[in-house]
Amino acid sequence: MTALVQQPEGYHASLILDGRIVDGPHRPEVRNPGRASEIVGSFVSASSADVDVAVSAAVRAFQEWAAMPMIERADVLRAAAEALAEDADGRIHLLARENGQLLSEARGGVMGASRTLSWYADLAATYEVVAELPTSNGRVIVEKQPTGPTALIVPWNAPTRLGFLSLAPTLLAGNTVVVKLPSEAPLALFDSLARIHHLFPKGTVNVVSGSGSTVGRHLVSHPGIRRVSFTGSTATGKQILRLAANSIKRVSLELGGNDPAIVLPDADLDATVSELVRGAFALSGQMCYAVKRIYVHSSIYGEFVAAFRTEVDAIRVGSGLDARSTMGSMINARQRDRIIQILRQSEAAGAEVAILGSTLDGTEDGWFHLPAVVTGLHDESALVREEQFGPAIPVMSYETEAEAITRANDSEFGLASSVWTSDIEHGFDLGRKLEAGSTFINIHRAGASGDDMPFGGFKESGLGRGHGVVALDEQYELHTVSSRRPG
Ligand code: NDP
Repeated sequence: MTALVQQPEGYHASLILDGRIVDGPHRPEVRNPGRASEIVGSFVSASSADVDVAVSAAVRAFQEWAAMPMIERADVLRAAAEALAEDADGRIHLLARENGQLLSEARGGVMGASRTLSWYADLAATYEVVAELPTSNGRVIVEKQPTGPTALIVPWNAPTRLGFLSLAPTLLAGNTVVVKLPSEAPLALFDSLARIHHLFPKGTVNVVSGSGSTVGRHLVSHPGIRRVSFTGSTATGKQILRLAANSIKRVSLELGGNDPAIVLPDADLDATVSELVRGAFALSGQMCYAVKRIYVHSSIYGEFVAAFRTEVDAIRVGSGLDARSTMGSMINARQRDRIIQILRQSEAAGAEVAILGSTLDGTEDGWFHLPAVVTGLHDESALVREEQFGPAIPVMSYETEAEAITRANDSEFGLASSVWTSDIEHGFDLGRKLEAGSTFINIHRAGASGDDMPFGGFKESGLGRGHGVVALDEQYELHTVSSRRPG
């Protein structure tokens, strides 16, 4: 199925309800954040009735899909992976145009979808869903049963990558889905789903779109939904947890982060600077586990800041489609204005704000912001305490490792973190003291958390774990059936 249809008014994302591509009367526009006058396409603002149809279809399809042996479901996932590996260029361009990221970043996100489906499909050959407990009296089995129709709610910053990281284990386990597209960037994810939904039994993969506060809320509150898999901000995650509480739905939350990087005095300076620039400014800093705070030992602080500023100054900000760009735009005016505001606050608090890099031609009509390196900040300032989600990074100095760990852990977030050192063993010892779902040694950028590595947050960065085998484990209810008698 070729879903990538360019019309004069751009690409249109419909709904997918019970195996049918369905349209609606309200079609909000999607604009290119790198060129706000350019309409990339539109999506459907679904009604409550559309959501009801999607959930009913997922409820009906659940019996058939859950009853299919896992090995056969894996074959369907493999077919979907193959379908997504074809003709990817159009989707890559679409993603870069709808969320302003570089083509290279969009390529990683789009191709990652196919890779993730294959990775989960390969698990099916060895994954056990029934275990027998050793007992001398009667019999005890523990069976994993798929939880049921699942709502997948996806953010705009990496919709294809994150959408499929949730989708693949959910479907492999035998759950059916209703995917809610992100309003800022719904097109590439819709196109991916439109290419594969017909490979699954009718009603297994449903897609809705529209505002999170209406369509998203209705979906999460729906009695037919048994599990919610949410990736997005901590504020929305809290709302979802409250909504899900009414019927004790299972919930997994992949939320925001404020990732610290601790640079030890023995770190390889050139390699560390170069990796940290990448880690902080990829996707214009709009990545859940972007580096968001850097702590550098005082003995190398001056040297580090000088080298870091020089490398950041080489960043060329421009359209994601321009091969000369090394950083794209921000998603919208609100997010760009937040960065302007947080930098003003930093300056007012006495910090030194270095706005670096250069802008390519053609950026006057987009939501671009040059990369900023901020020094001289107090630990209580907004740029240190909050998730900036943009191209502005605070660099602070520390004296002792114990102090660095305490300051890094002094946050309500706990998504990822990193330690930079030439002594890998010491990096592991120190890294294990950080309160975060992931700690990387000498790396901290997209791809550092592989598909096989559990990923998720401590504290307000999330609930449950995604990626890896553990994400498949989370898709089930455990059902114990036993004939054992007491005593
Ligand atoms: P949001 O929380 O604003 O939105 C995420 C999704 O939730 C969107 O589809 C949105 O719809 C929907 N939504 C919004 N309100 C509700 C609601 N009340 N009920 C149900 N659904 C709702 O996050 P962003 O899109 O702004 O993403 C950025 C955030 O996501 C950052 O904090 C980032 O750190 C985090 N993130 C976390 C990741 C992780 O793996 N831990 C990965 C990537 C991002 P709509 O688009 O219509 O508003």
